[in-house]
Amino acid sequence: MVKKHPSTQFIDKSKSMELPRHVAIGHDVLNDIGEISRALHFRGPALIVVDKTTKRIAGNRVEKLLVSENYDAHQVTIDEADLINMEKVKQEILEIKAKFVLGVGGGRPIDMAKLASFETKKPFISVPTAASHDGIVSGQASIRNKKHKISSKTHSPFAVVADTKIIAKSPYRLLAAGCGDVISNLTAVKDWDMAKKFRNEYFSSSAAMLSELTAKVLLKSAGMIKPRLEESSWLVAKALVSSGVAMCIAGSSRPASGSEHMFSHALERLAPKPALHGEQCAVGTILMMYLHGGDWSGIRSALEKIKVPVTAKALKIEESLIVEALTITHTIRPERYSIMSGGLTYEAAEDLAIQTGVIS
Ligand SMILES: [Zn+2]
Repeated sequence: MVKKHPSTQFIDKSKSMELPRHVAIGHDVLNDIGEISRALHFRGPALIVVDKTTKRIAGNRVEKLLVSENYDAHQVTIDEADLINMEKVKQEILEIKAKFVLGVGGGRPIDMAKLASFETKKPFISVPTAASHDGIVSGQASIRNKKHKISSKTHSPFAVVADTKIIAKSPYRLLAAGCGDVISNLTAVKDWDMAKKFRNEYFSSSAAMLSELTAKVLLKSAGMIKPRLEESSWLVAKALVSSGVAMCIAGSSRPASGSEHMFSHALERLAPKPALHGEQCAVGTILMMYLHGGDWSGIRSALEKIKVPVTAKALKIEESLIVEALTITHTIRPERYSIMSGGLTYEAAEDLAIQTGVIS
């Protein structure tokens, strides 16, 4: 057989990535919101999505700043991340003929702004007021559909404006939960690597490395993450941005969401009052890292240092629900191959929770 010269060989690989174009993190960066919008060539009316709290914390200020840059800016207040509120935001986008949308908040306003802007094909700016999860940068959004929360792929923000002065004033519990969400990258990447080996799934080494490195840097800095320290908000916000970028590179949530996230979703289905997303993912990381044979106790110690809850009691969730959640984790996203894909027996789930100290 005649061997083709390498220069004439056809490479049938292609990849496209949607990354944020402008990321601003730091003290008082909110003041630059008008300038950033101009630099992105956004013209015309802006819709700012807030909830009752974030309106007061930053929404009103964002409106004023945009108006001072001669933008016609309006706010819409949502109270839940569900279909009703998404329709409300979409309606408002159409009514004011918004040319761009800003999500100002922790989770819900950002999710609603992200989804509604995606459906109406408008660019979106993420303005987090807390650093509690990596959705502040990623293209994933969660929405409550009847009983359950579902996650859907939308678009990445055009810009992220994370003001550490504002984030530092948010409740410390949110920041600690954000650390949990970043540290969960460690098991997410292990699950993704398994999927590559067992299912020949697409795997991006650069996305995996960035995601893992981000979690490791945060683990190392665990002693420096403390309440009311703007430096801590800086560390966590930066880590959440890196996690988000890893997801953008991968084109999926794979680098930052594996079996530990499925466990968190399972808990949300069962627990009458679930804990925060990042807190549940953190406990999930300890459990899944035990199954992967990694350093679960090192992760547990770092989380304890940051004051992230690591037991059922600290999560304020009944121990029996932790075990039950472990037995249904494999049913949450069955197409996403992970260490949990085969499922656990009740006895194995109970043993896992006891061995890792999650239940006593
Ligand atoms: Zn997450």
